[in-house]
Amino acid sequence: MTDLNELYQEMILEHNKSPRNFRAITDATKKAEGYNPLCGDRLMIYLKLENSRIADISFQGSGCAISKASASMMTTMVKGKTKAEAEALFEDFRKMLGRGAGSDYDTKSLGKLAVFSGVCEFPARVKCATLAWHTLYSGLGNEAKIISTEEGR
Ligand code: ZN
Repeated sequence: MTDLNELYQEMILEHNKSPRNFRAITDATKKAEGYNPLCGDRLMIYLKLENSRIADISFQGSGCAISKASASMMTTMVKGKTKAEAEALFEDFRKMLGRGAGSDYDTKSLGKLAVFSGVCEFPARVKCATLAWHTLYSGLGNEAKIISTEEGR
């Protein structure tokens, strides 16, 4: 288990150091801003939606290693997925972290996101890990507004 945790930590640190899709999309169809006041994580998600499919996604911002790695991994996971598929993945991710209704989640579809499974032991850190997802969720909706992890849990 310790080895696994070390591997997970390494992946998180690696994504934090070289985040994927860390840029702005100039012709984004949606933008959403997320803020986690507990930790000071702030990020902006850019989305390019084509017929309810995420044709492109990127993010920018600053925050702790977990929030940044989570945003980085999220963008790689949901790119090419439909809105419904991305939302289902978010639901599974929340369940893995001990949030949301029930604890039956699809480990297979979560894939690499399993690196965040240890975060559920640290409730304050769960907000760091889910910030990008809450922001994506808002971006997939119709309103662009500032999302705080303190709301709508
Ligand atoms: Zn954080």
